[in-house]
Amino acid sequence: MNTHICLACGEARFRVLYSNVLDYEHNIANPDIDIIKCQQCGLVQLFPMPAQRELVTYYPDDYANLQVESSFLMKTLMEIYFSSVHAFLRKQIPRKARILDVGSSSGHFMEYVETIESGWELIGVDMSIHAVEEGRKKGREIIHSSFEELDIPDQTFDLIIVKHIIEHVVDPKQFLLKANRLLKKNGKLYLETPNTSCLDFKIFKKYWGGIHFPRHTYMFSDKNIDELLKTTMFGNTKITSTMNLFGWALSIQNYIVDKYKLPLKNGRIKIYPFLMISFLPVLLIQKLFAQPAGMRVITERIC
Ligand SMILES: [Zn+2]
Repeated sequence: MNTHICLACGEARFRVLYSNVLDYEHNIANPDIDIIKCQQCGLVQLFPMPAQRELVTYYPDDYANLQVESSFLMKTLMEIYFSSVHAFLRKQIPRKARILDVGSSSGHFMEYVETIESGWELIGVDMSIHAVEEGRKKGREIIHSSFEELDIPDQTFDLIIVKHIIEHVVDPKQFLLKANRLLKKNGKLYLETPNTSCLDFKIFKKYWGGIHFPRHTYMFSDKNIDELLKTTMFGNTKITSTMNLFGWALSIQNYIVDKYKLPLKNGRIKIYPFLMISFLPVLLIQKLFAQPAGMRVITERIC
């Protein structure tokens, strides 16, 4: 670990946080990978970092985030979430704006906003060919590519949306530099990602839903993200929180699955919606008085 340098602060000293971590959602464990923490800034990451070609094998066909939500409860929660993201974003950009949705899947968010915002020109990009084809059938412009390999001229977008993607990539710094290049001057970047500075990470430790082993490559605190954005030429950064329930519901699921070996479907146990509802009040209190597991970041290209 001696030659390894922290992506956020340049520190070379790390400590192993967890070894032999299991994948409690899809059972794709990799015993050769540890979770380490920077001694200086606290950035949490996989070590050794898997190569991109290995990383893609960690996503099974029934990966929950690739599924279209079918239950009434999950659909309703998704609508509430989209409405909150939309309300937030419309205050950040001009009425006429070119927007890139990174990891758009088949375009669920694009579908939500296309009927409300006639001035928004939305382009999606996703690595799943199935999702891209499904979205194209519905008339949406979705490019089949990784963001890193996306071939689009510089300074194209007023806004780039990156919801729960930055914690899945092999090199978040290069990812942010690319986002910077694709944005117009003073264009905005919207990020959502887990925040390791929360009570539920301290409580659940290796079971914390934000670890999502081995698919989350880097797990940031709000301070880590702020530093990383500064070094990738972003400024006027504002970090608030989101209402994601993975900090409580998924962490408890992970614990139960490890202890009682309950069966999973699409990475979730049967009572998962019940866990989500049960912990909604806890999350509301946490959002009011402390830092929840999910953070929302809006930042601006400054050069
Ligand atoms: Zn560091």
